[in-house]
Amino acid sequence: MKIARGTKLSNFYLILQGAVLIISTAFLVLPASGVITSSNPAGQQTNPPITINKVRDNIYMIKGGSGANCYFLAGKKTNLLIDAKMSPESLKEMLTEIQKISAKPLSLVILTHSDGDHVNGLSGLPGGVKILAHKKTYEEMLPAVEQRPELKNFLPSETYEGIKNLDFEGTKLELRNFGPAHTRGDTVIFIAVSKVAIAGDLVFIGRDPLIHKQKNGSFFGLIKTLESMLAYKPEIELFLSGHADPASRQEVSELVKSLKEKEARVRGMIQQKKTLEEIKAAFGVGPASASSRRPSLIEIIYQEITEEK
Ligand SMILES: [Zn+2]
Repeated sequence: MKIARGTKLSNFYLILQGAVLIISTAFLVLPASGVITSSNPAGQQTNPPITINKVRDNIYMIKGGSGANCYFLAGKKTNLLIDAKMSPESLKEMLTEIQKISAKPLSLVILTHSDGDHVNGLSGLPGGVKILAHKKTYEEMLPAVEQRPELKNFLPSETYEGIKNLDFEGTKLELRNFGPAHTRGDTVIFIAVSKVAIAGDLVFIGRDPLIHKQKNGSFFGLIKTLESMLAYKPEIELFLSGHADPASRQEVSELVKSLKEKEARVRGMIQQKKTLEEIKAAFGVGPASASSRRPSLIEIIYQEITEEK
């Protein structure tokens, strides 16, 4: 478990996990299962079973199935879902499991961003459920509809820009977009009363963060977003994400520090007139291979620094 052991926070979390801790721990050995399955068409491999664990108050974390971790908030009358798995089958299975914990209708889905492992399951939703996302997420989803026409009727029904405040049956939520980071349309959902933020793919722990340049993502923007999340008042204690276990403030601070260290090192090597290939070699990043579909983080940092005016 990534939460620093021995802290009050981790003890609290472990107590909350209670009887399901053993099951939960068993699944922690599958790192970023959503990412692994995301490179394969749905249904061609066995997905891990859906498991739901209470994080804090009325906030639950849903792992397993195909695609990224999802979350739900149990309300008095309805449930609110955050992200939608990668296949309609997985989404339906998840909704069935949610009913065992909170037998209420689903009233709203909030999307953290437009990646397939977070949105492709939307077509498994029952009719009449509102879908809310950042305006850029809506726009980024439009090309995907050409390949997945079934998503046409499940595009966000409401969009926002900047900040949106919501009252979910008495729980105040603040949706924020801090500019380009993982994508252009990332949403962080702040749940102040619980001191929790749900941050989509902005928090990767133990591996390089992904920056989708084709969706106008930004490395500098990711640092700014992570710092804004840490600066949020009231102070957030737990950061929940699509491919990591709940992260503490310390873990997010360390992530920011490590990203800034990488940036400083790349900057220094650029000043020494090192080539990109030399810089990549210094970080142990091999030449691009057919299997690596995306530029490495070092290449993205290099690109953003050299594009600075
Ligand atoms: Zn993503």
